[in-house]
Amino acid sequence: MLPSPSFSRTIVSMDTFVTIDIIEPDSAQAAAESVERAFSWFSEIERRCSRFDLDSEVMRLSAQIGSPVVVSELLFQAITFALSVAELSGGAFDPTLGGSLEARGFNRNYQTGETVDSGLRTAAVATYADVVLDPVGSTITLLRPLILDLGAVVKGMAIDLAALELRSFENYSINAGGDIYVAGHGPDSDRWNIGLRNPRQPDQIFETLRVSNVSVCTSGDYERRSGNGFAGHHIVNPKTRRSPPAIASLTVVAPTAMVADALGTAAFVLGPRRGLRFLERQGVEGLIVSPTLVSHETKGFSRYRQ
Ligand code: AMP
Ligand code: MG
Repeated sequence: MLPSPSFSRTIVSMDTFVTIDIIEPDSAQAAAESVERAFSWFSEIERRCSRFDLDSEVMRLSAQIGSPVVVSELLFQAITFALSVAELSGGAFDPTLGGSLEARGFNRNYQTGETVDSGLRTAAVATYADVVLDPVGSTITLLRPLILDLGAVVKGMAIDLAALELRSFENYSINAGGDIYVAGHGPDSDRWNIGLRNPRQPDQIFETLRVSNVSVCTSGDYERRSGNGFAGHHIVNPKTRRSPPAIASLTVVAPTAMVADALGTAAFVLGPRRGLRFLERQGVEGLIVSPTLVSHETKGFSRYRQ
């Protein structure tokens, strides 16, 4: 029997294009059904975790200060993971920056085009230490007025849950706006070729990695700009409330997308030297490109060039 042609679908979710490719699946129908289920994780996570929708579960939680709120398993896991990265990074990563991001003009809902003003008061001193988890009751308590922002976690989480839906296929890729998970191999290679963009000419490829069964996530200073003239970009250092200036793009290769996505954002804030040391301590590989296009990388990163 001849294999089916490769299967490819793209949707728009989480303010980006999400593409799933399955190489020569045995059944096009099975591929279509699995991809449908894979995409549904993106909409489900977005519905629960979006800061740009005042009705999302995370925004309803952010509106209740001081008392325990029962949340869904999905939101509980996303926040638990974000808090552990906050701790590991000494607070460079902080999922309570939503108020700062909103004030800096990162508040446009891409689906409606509207600017979202939560109207929520936030305390300038709030940090991740003001978020208390109770795994027994599945509750979260916010000790100070704050807005949770899970933007550095949710894309990776959606990619990993989507990958679980595709586990019966050998060779596939999930690409959510440059955050990628690949299994097996691509159309004409024994692995997948992943092009990393030149952060100063994002339509050009800076270099190509050859990887399999890993996630590759990139954060760039060119990605999202504010709507209100804030000089920085979408990653903010919680201590200075500015965008870290020393990195133009940062790529992490890790076993899962949730880890690659969040550790990358944390390392971006830590800066080139501390960021690379942090990634090495966490046992993942990373490549940092400076604004003048000088590269720094973890010791094991070069294996992905072969
Ligand atoms: P990424 O696209 O993975 O680089 O993540 C960037 C997103 O993470 C931003 O759009 C914000 O939603 C969020 N974010 C920005 N700064 C931080 C930070 N210091 N800690 C945690 N999340 C952040
Ligand atoms: Mg990230």
